[in-house]
Amino acid sequence: MRVLITGGAGFIGSHLCDRLVKAGDEVICLDNYFTGARTNIAHLRDCANFEFIRHDVTEPIRLEVDRVYHLACPASPIHYQYNPVKTVKTSVLGTLNMLGLAKRVKARILLASTSEVYGDPLVHPQNEDYWGNVNPVGIRSCYDESKRLAETLMMDYHRQNHVDIRIIRIFNTYGPRMNEGDGRVVSNFLFQALRGEALTIYGEGKQTRSFCYIDDLVEGMIRLMDSNYIGPMNVGNPDEFTILELANQVRSLVDPQLPVLFNPLPSDDPRQRCPDIGRARRILGWQPTVALGEGLARTAADFRARLMQHA
Ligand code: NAD
Ligand code: UDP
Ligand code: UDP
Repeated sequence: MRVLITGGAGFIGSHLCDRLVKAGDEVICLDNYFTGARTNIAHLRDCANFEFIRHDVTEPIRLEVDRVYHLACPASPIHYQYNPVKTVKTSVLGTLNMLGLAKRVKARILLASTSEVYGDPLVHPQNEDYWGNVNPVGIRSCYDESKRLAETLMMDYHRQNHVDIRIIRIFNTYGPRMNEGDGRVVSNFLFQALRGEALTIYGEGKQTRSFCYIDDLVEGMIRLMDSNYIGPMNVGNPDEFTILELANQVRSLVDPQLPVLFNPLPSDDPRQRCPDIGRARRILGWQPTVALGEGLARTAADFRARLMQHA
């Protein structure tokens, strides 16, 4: 199987490259290194079934592949708000180009969508039939509205051109290789804790998220690609925690004496988020296997090693 992974040098993409290279697929990793890193894929460069292409998905490209995992897009608020217009282009034009490619070569294509399509949800937990509560003109809109449009493009290429599509709605995912500077809560808290700094809680820390360990997410993504299911599929961990609870888990893992610092809550920050994974359980036979404490410990080990390398 020839597999194209866009955004393959990023956090999730590089773990997916690992899995598919190991499975014996011919993997083409495409990335422009906006938020990805050479170090994420350096260990694959000598594999005979791995190839890297430096390319921006907003530009057309012709490749012959059987499957496309389309992940290219900045994913954390700091990065997608750095150049919001470029984020919209990446999400919309990038998905259009990959759909054009999939149509031309009759490849199956999976879009990495996001729980952000539910916005600040009024339904809890969120199932795939909920249409969401998204601010179309806010500072997060460049990301969530453009992912919504990317989903629309996927469905329309399917209905109009019979492209074989899959849509995964990824909920907050964490693990080794997370980008240190991307401001996500798990990487912030763990790096702060390992440096002996105070943990920065935005707002009162009462907002909730559910955190999925990277290996569980990649397993769900591959199962969805291999399934026959057309339409959105939530993949995430339904164990829900307040941000304050997360801070306390990190403190008990690294140093219970660490102070916490309360900072202002960014605008449009969703108050609660938790996936209903009934569909993934039923259709993919998938559910997460790594509990938060275990996943945080594995992630902390990777971050510690990275800090030592830079020391
Ligand atoms: P990441 O930033 O680590 O990876 C994104 C990759 O895309 C990077 O390697 C980046 O360089 C590349 N990229 C960005 N713009 C590009 C462009 N124009 N052309 C080519 N490559 C480009 O983020 P991630 O967490 O690995 O996210 C991967 C995908 O999963 C994204 O589509 C994101 O929206 C989605 N997602 C992630 C999460 C999460 O919790 N990590 C949650 C929901 C959805
Ligand atoms: N495209 C691409 N690679 C391909 C085929 C198409 O990048 O192998 C791009 C193409 O340049 C266009 C987009 O995908 O911008 C949509 O292609 P489609 O054929 O659906 O539309 P059209 O080219 O007719 O506008
Ligand atoms: N957050 C926090 N401290 C941080 C970084 C984030 O309290 O140092 C909060 C943030 O306001 C949000 C939650 O943690 O409510 C998750 O943030 P993240 O950016 O990781 O993911 P997203 O908001 O995209 O779900």
